[in-house]
Amino acid sequence: MSADPIALRAAGQAIGQAAGPLAVAIVGAGPSGFYAAAALLKAFDRVEIDIIEALPTPFGLIRGGVAPDHQSTKRVARAFARTARDPRVHFHGNVELDRDLSVAELCEAYDAVALAVGMARDRDMEIPGARLAGVFGAAAFVGWYNGHPDFRDLDPDLDTAAACVIGNGNVAIDVARVLVKTAEEMAGSDLADHAAWAIQAAPLRDVYLIGRRGPVQAKFTNKELTEMGALADCAAVVDPALLPGEVSGPMPERDRRLAEKNLATLKGFAARAPDAAPVAGKAKRVHFLFNAKPDAVLGEGRCAALRLERTRLEDGRAVGTGEFFEIPCGLVVSAIGYRMAPIEGVALDSATGGIANRDGRVDPGLYVVGWAGRGPSGVIGTNKADGDRVAELIQADFPQGGGPGGSGPGASRGTKPGRDALVRLLAERGVRRVGFADWERIDAAEVAAAPPGAPRRKLTRIADLLAVLDRDDGAPVTGV
Ligand code: NAP
Repeated sequence: MSADPIALRAAGQAIGQAAGPLAVAIVGAGPSGFYAAAALLKAFDRVEIDIIEALPTPFGLIRGGVAPDHQSTKRVARAFARTARDPRVHFHGNVELDRDLSVAELCEAYDAVALAVGMARDRDMEIPGARLAGVFGAAAFVGWYNGHPDFRDLDPDLDTAAACVIGNGNVAIDVARVLVKTAEEMAGSDLADHAAWAIQAAPLRDVYLIGRRGPVQAKFTNKELTEMGALADCAAVVDPALLPGEVSGPMPERDRRLAEKNLATLKGFAARAPDAAPVAGKAKRVHFLFNAKPDAVLGEGRCAALRLERTRLEDGRAVGTGEFFEIPCGLVVSAIGYRMAPIEGVALDSATGGIANRDGRVDPGLYVVGWAGRGPSGVIGTNKADGDRVAELIQADFPQGGGPGGSGPGASRGTKPGRDALVRLLAERGVRRVGFADWERIDAAEVAAAPPGAPRRKLTRIADLLAVLDRDDGAPVTGV
């Protein structure tokens, strides 16, 4: 009979032998999880890192959030893949927190546990009619067009000439752009097939991008805003009366620079004559509306119009003026931020919408990293600093060479069974783990099935993703 490694490790501890490698579990295989893993690999020579992920696919927002036509942003996944291939790192996909195992069990099994779970849910738009058919949050809508299995069957009815996208952040602009780009413009993307068919068949002509505050307060990055003025069959339209002469008022220098660039770009859109090349002959329009806050979605059973109230800025806040107007539309997508799905035994912080923490620490041995800790802000690279920070915290709590025998952070490192316990627990529960080599087979199948010019054809159902691993012929995947 082979020796039980857990029992061996425990026995080693009991007689005071040197501690084993530090056992770290990272929950979530998105950018913050991978940046944390990379930083831990640098910080510790003897470390065993298990990245646990609910989906059979890694990379979180890179696959499911970043716009399908922004392929260059997705290149960072190559660096994440190098991290995943480090022998000290194991990826355990298709393993879901609170379905297959709990945070308490992970804390029992690992010296350190970092929650890198992101924010998977939409902040609710608390207005009448928000639950009518035809109204979606961006987490769901973006998940749908990006082929996230949770939203595969969202099936939005796009049989409408007009759509309203609420919010003035990059997610709102992503949604608007994906709705109006031509099939040719999307040919080099990994837009999921079901979404490509639905969007291209839709009679959409007008998309309204709606900010409750003014253009100076819009959070679009300028690259994304500028892109809206250079679309093949869609004109960017803004009423010059909505644009101030200049950026004024106190604000951090960085915000001022962004606001000035965005205002100049919007003025450029506003100055285009209707018969000028960027506007004339284009079938679609994206209308930038500012100082308008959603008041109600109107319709009998499904969305037929959005009612908005004009606003003015008071102390930086949007205050209703009592003047209302309506936009007839069959689709409303709210891109107004994200919140966490609750996790058993983990307290949430109402201010960030994330996990309550003190600068990354949740409880002894339990940490949070990325959006789940600081809220849904920043670009993919912002998570690198968070990953470095959590590695620093873990390093401080488990100093290398600390003496064995204590319990809890600070006393020693490498006192818990880690991977052995995880693998045993999941096997007992009949959970089918997907390893990184498995993902590489799925990846290869998606790439092999890509239409001409596209990077991949995404598999969008869990069963189809797992089916690749059951085949032994290496045949390209056709399921969509
Ligand atoms: P965001 O940048 O925070 O924008 C959220 C928008 O929703 C803001 O305009 C906000 O207006 C508005 N809003 C919030 N509550 C509202 C309400 N009740 N009614 C009407 N409007 C409301 O968030 P995001 O667009 O979800 O993006 C999240 C993060 O991911 C951002 O840091 C973003 O830059 C990043 N991201 C980057 C890219 C990229 O680099 N290409 C792409 C996607 C996402 P107020 O300002 O008035 O609160």
